[in-house]
Amino acid sequence: MHEVSLAAALLPVVLEIAAEHGTRVAAITVQAGELAGVVPASLELAFRGLAVGTAAEDAALVIETVPVRARCRRCGLEFAVDDVVFLCPVCDVADCETVDGTELLLTRVELSDAG
Ligand SMILES: [Zn+2]
Repeated sequence: MHEVSLAAALLPVVLEIAAEHGTRVAAITVQAGELAGVVPASLELAFRGLAVGTAAEDAALVIETVPVRARCRRCGLEFAVDDVVFLCPVCDVADCETVDGTELLLTRVELSDAG
């Protein structure tokens, strides 16, 4: 249920970009890592609620889910993680760090031409 706080963190960033250009937000693209446990529908709902009355009120929200990736500390191999099993396919050890899939990332903001 942290979608509300994620949306609350996302909105000011988007609004600031729109304000800099003196226009409204047409579309927003975010990448949500699988490990972040973000439910896209919940995030969209939270964002919609918060964006009412702002320059992002009519913005389309595109949420892309990013697979979890890990890097082996022994051989440095980066690999996609299935079922949260952090096991290097080369070394067969679980001595890995997560490199992707844990965060919500704002990747793209499209501004409206209408102003
Ligand atoms: Zn390895």
